[in-house]
Amino acid sequence: MNGKKVCIIGSGLAGLASALRLVKRGYEVEIIEKNPCAGGRLNQLCVDDFKFDLGPSFFTMTYEFDELANDCNISLPFEYSTLDPIFSVNFLEDRKTFNLYNDREKLNNQFGKLESNFLSKLDRYLKYGSALFNDTIDIAVRQNFNSLSHYIQALSKINKRHIPVLFTSYQNHVNRYFSSPELRQILSLSAYFLGNTPHKTNGVYSLLSHTEFVDDGYHYVHGGMYKIIEGIIEELKKENVSITYNSEIVNVQRKDKIVTGVIDKKGHKYDADTFIVNIDPLVFRNKILHKKNYMDKILDRKQWSMGMLTIYMGIDFKLNIESIHNYFVGKENIKHEMNNFRYYNLPETPYYYVNIQSRYSDTAAPKGCEALMFVIPVPNLIYKQDWSDRDEIVSNIIKDFSNRIGLNLKNHIKTLKVMTPVDWQKKFNLYKGAALGLSHSMNQTGYLRPSNVDKEFKNLFYTGSSTQPGIGLPMAIISSRLTTERVIGSKIAPIYSK
Ligand SMILES: Cc1cc2nc3c(=O)[nH]c(=O)nc-3n(C[C@H](O)[C@H](O)[C@H](O)COP(=O)(O)OP(=O)(O)OC[C@H]3O[C@@H](n4cnc5c(N)ncnc54)[C@H](O)[C@@H]3O)c2cc1C
Repeated sequence: MNGKKVCIIGSGLAGLASALRLVKRGYEVEIIEKNPCAGGRLNQLCVDDFKFDLGPSFFTMTYEFDELANDCNISLPFEYSTLDPIFSVNFLEDRKTFNLYNDREKLNNQFGKLESNFLSKLDRYLKYGSALFNDTIDIAVRQNFNSLSHYIQALSKINKRHIPVLFTSYQNHVNRYFSSPELRQILSLSAYFLGNTPHKTNGVYSLLSHTEFVDDGYHYVHGGMYKIIEGIIEELKKENVSITYNSEIVNVQRKDKIVTGVIDKKGHKYDADTFIVNIDPLVFRNKILHKKNYMDKILDRKQWSMGMLTIYMGIDFKLNIESIHNYFVGKENIKHEMNNFRYYNLPETPYYYVNIQSRYSDTAAPKGCEALMFVIPVPNLIYKQDWSDRDEIVSNIIKDFSNRIGLNLKNHIKTLKVMTPVDWQKKFNLYKGAALGLSHSMNQTGYLRPSNVDKEFKNLFYTGSSTQPGIGLPMAIISSRLTTERVIGSKIAPIYSK
């Protein structure tokens, strides 16, 4: 022990990973969590005999998780496998399904007839995506920036050939390579992972295609995604890190420019030398620090991600679908206005996603049954406050899914739970129910995203997806390293196994 105590507010993946890095460096660590269990959005839902992953259903960039394990001198505390097909996409008009395999020949068999010179175009598209990824990941994603000039200086080191992509959208970038409407839609779907439509997401993020098809792909976790959290908690237990559940922080005690304690709803005070906030930094300043510049009317002008309506459904039969990870796209690749996802009800919804969880977790469903999670991108609460049409939306989705699989699902549902943006907001304090927090517009990326260092309090830091570098599980792991570097005051040389 080095005699210093860190208090972490929130036990999301970034909070837990920061705790592990710091306890291994001799800090005493205490975690405070609002909910009765850890994990934040990376969570599980147990209903009847079914066990669902609540949010994330896959992860990319396994080497970031290895880096965490290497840094903490542990073995990776969970097991995973690579998805193949990576995902499938089903179209509404002709009900045709495309499986996105790792194998090029299998891809060519499906897309060769739709797109002339398909493989050479795909190679060209992915070659550029890989160059973009490799030229930017260390410079723009994996490091802390101390000032705007530091950020600009770093960006100036990026190969100038990437400048044009900055002035186009994800969708237009994909369209430059492919003319088939199906391929254009399929290859731009990952833009939604960053919280916005492919038309509203910058072309630079087409590097996500590299993580899907070239890098190490999509992975599921044996026994369900929550095993990641259970594994990290086991490691934290060995180091005597305490986690206090059902304790929502609502206030801070301060003296000059130092936070001296945080106080929960029941009036309990937690002391420490250093505080790390795993809640969205803007929500923390709005709800807990009550800062004038962070009031709702100012925050509403930021670009928040869409909301998500999630359905957890247990059914009494096994689905005849090859892929675990399935998109059912809507009428057209509609140009959504801003990020308000005006078209959220079928058939105009851009897509809905169905994850077959019982394929990778034996405990997800009873024998002969299937556990499904549906994710539907919808407006967040800035754009739609009234969710009294929830059941109608759910019923439309069930009807559509039944049509696409050729079987009326209604008579086979054993359990059904739904979460709207209102529920996501309430459960995890997500601003206006924006499921992914701040979206990745260019003015909310890199140094321009909220910093992991508080501007006012010297001993207050932030970690997680609405700070740097951003959205998704691998980014939460990188964020935990960047925040740890801020707390310890020096860089960690990341060790990647591959
Ligand atoms: C439906 C859905 C699907 C997703 N799918 C994927 C996917 O497949 N792959 C992927 O990589 N990413 C996915 N994501 C994104 C991913 O879940 C997040 O980027 C990541 O989990 C964020 O982790 P975090 O640690 O930043 O924050 P969070 O998980 O939000 O953790 C913050 C924690 O702080 C707690 N907290 C909040 N307020 C307080 C308070 N006042 N006091 C105490 N505690 C508090 C919360 O309860 C929570 O536990 C998905 C997200 C959603 C919503």
